[in-house]
Amino acid sequence: MRTIDDLLGEQDLRGRRVLVRSDLNVPLDDQGRITDDGRVRASVPTIAALTEAGARVVVCAHLGRPKGSPEQKYSLAPVAERLGELLGRPVALAEDTVGESARAVVDGLQDGQVALLENLRFNPGETSKDDAERGAFADQLASLADLYVSDGFGVVHRKQASVYDVARRLPHVAGTLVQAEVDVLQRLTHDPARPYVVVLGGAKVSDKLGVIESLLTTADKLLIGGGMAFTFLKAQGYEVGRSLLEQDQLDPVRGYLQQAAERGVEILLPTDVVAATEFAADAEHEVVPADAIPADRLGLDIGPESARAFAAAVEGAKTVFWNGPMGAFEMVPYADGTAAVAKALVAATRAGAFTVVGGGDSAAAIRQLGFADDDFSHISTGGGASLEYLEGKELPGLSVLEDSGPVSGGKE
Ligand code: ADP
Ligand code: MG
Repeated sequence: MRTIDDLLGEQDLRGRRVLVRSDLNVPLDDQGRITDDGRVRASVPTIAALTEAGARVVVCAHLGRPKGSPEQKYSLAPVAERLGELLGRPVALAEDTVGESARAVVDGLQDGQVALLENLRFNPGETSKDDAERGAFADQLASLADLYVSDGFGVVHRKQASVYDVARRLPHVAGTLVQAEVDVLQRLTHDPARPYVVVLGGAKVSDKLGVIESLLTTADKLLIGGGMAFTFLKAQGYEVGRSLLEQDQLDPVRGYLQQAAERGVEILLPTDVVAATEFAADAEHEVVPADAIPADRLGLDIGPESARAFAAAVEGAKTVFWNGPMGAFEMVPYADGTAAVAKALVAATRAGAFTVVGGGDSAAAIRQLGFADDDFSHISTGGGASLEYLEGKELPGLSVLEDSGPVSGGKE
């Protein structure tokens, strides 16, 4: 995979238009203000390296889930403003993706200046399953630039026009963020320092089942909390009341428990849970043993005994990967389990372990709980992408960068 450094070492970027696919998919509040600018900050190094080299930088990204046509609430306008502040130079926002406004804005760029196209998902070609429709959009995107830099790690598992098809149309390299994320994932999959402990939580078991299967061959311990723990508890024969449960996943989960036992991989499940009467911050709640969850209650956090056991396992590790909060941490009464695991990761980091946090909500949780980014070895910007990588799947946005083609081209 060729990188920005290769590009800078090989050619003068002054006068060259470089299309950068960034991941700027930040959460907005109902006033349209950015509530966590982590992804914008993570996109800055690549863009800054290109502007410093004199390139004319055309950034493209998506925000939220518009359905293939413009919707004001998904405009990248707040992102353009924040990106400009962080770069210390204005960012010109086009009013469309590949239309007249985009062309005019790109044509107006001087060396070292930055433009941002409007939300890529305002165009149905971006996410289309139809190769021709996606390709047509990618043609238009490619016509705006001479070179392509793939830096949206959060989307590299998607076969989308701005991620995959455009890389087939322009000389391309990986940006510094994609490069850093891939380095971290390689470290997790190629001979990780042991013990290697993985903590999984969050809401949807089915999204994370595939990764469990492959983690059973690499990790030494698997700690399972969050909503997904209840499918595991139920698979072991416990009643889980009204807790999150994926009935159709019980059989695969039983399979994993058995495989883990055969391979000597320890699976830690909660032994106690915080059981509430409702999914609400002010609901009545109490700590109960995991095998005695009342039928009318739902488990919204791991209990203190589980939190201690999970923390001890994490603190004893040399490598830790954590994806998914331990409870409904957005509500104060159910944030303790997530905070305990986060604290244990910080302690492990200080003791020299390699610690990685992946997942949008997990990253938001540690920031909400007041931890700093450098309390951990790495905070991944792409939850889905990192899980699919760990699962051993092929990521279209990464494999397309492998067959590199010439990085020069365009202007002779
Ligand atoms: P990530 O984005 O880090 O991959 P997920 O999206 O899988 O994490 O899950 C995050 C969500 O899971 C959070 O919004 C949190 O409130 C929710 N959650 C965690 N534990 C529970 C639980 N026991 N019951 C219901 N929701 C939960
Ligand atoms: Mg999430």
